[in-house]
Amino acid sequence: MEGELPARREHLIPGHQIVGDVVEGATAELATGARVGVSWIGGIDGTCWYCRRSMENLCDAPVFTGYTVDGGYAEYALARADFGFPLPAGLDDLHAAPLLCAGIIGFRSLRVAGVEPGERVGLFGFGASAHLAIEVLHAWNCGVYVSTRGASHRQLAKSLGATWVGTETERPPVELDRAITFAPSGDVVIAALASLRKGGIVAINAIHLDHIPQFDYDHLLWGERQIRSVTNMTRADARDFLKIAAEINLHPKSTQFPLSQANEALLAIKNDSIDGAAVIVP
Ligand SMILES: [Zn+2]
Repeated sequence: MEGELPARREHLIPGHQIVGDVVEGATAELATGARVGVSWIGGIDGTCWYCRRSMENLCDAPVFTGYTVDGGYAEYALARADFGFPLPAGLDDLHAAPLLCAGIIGFRSLRVAGVEPGERVGLFGFGASAHLAIEVLHAWNCGVYVSTRGASHRQLAKSLGATWVGTETERPPVELDRAITFAPSGDVVIAALASLRKGGIVAINAIHLDHIPQFDYDHLLWGERQIRSVTNMTRADARDFLKIAAEINLHPKSTQFPLSQANEALLAIKNDSIDGAAVIVP
């Protein structure tokens, strides 16, 4: 199933997460008319080995919004009530939508990397997900070191207060406690690993990776450094992230497209021609 998802998760994929109002099937938590967000995880079975052990992000039989569940690129969508999240009141629809994919997965990446307040954190790649993660890191008083390709992404990282910004091949000037890689590139994973202190963790925020090159175990992994992948999300990740987003008044960068220009939105993401996320408004 995962292999069929869009290859690049660095940007929000329009149509796979939804902001809307409840029109039918209200529950005690979600009244008719309530504004909810639905992420790309449309539901889980709740019964598999992983679900029974509080690892629902690894569920053997998840369903996906706008993919295996009807909706997305449409005015109406089906959603499970227990996978609809109330949204911060201070955010309009256009700015809330990017939180539901790029935001949540970036937040989960910080958790998988084990980020603690005040630590030095590397972000390798700086797209829709990283530009939200950096705001959370600021709130946690972390130093943020950004290595990324593309002058516009480096400029964005600087404007958002990164401690240090370099190209994708430049190594941060200090040893990092944690690193998150966003590019679908094994070379970048190795660059991140080479920047870590002993005991540090690299979290890979990518569904697909081209190839991890051979690397020197003695220098790069020994010392209890770890490489971890980041897979999907739990509802707790979503709720915790949306709470922090409201507290820090997180405002994602987004570009609006009408539904009739859904193809243009997808092309803009493919061509990396917009900063932040693409949002389709029916
Ligand atoms: Zn399951």
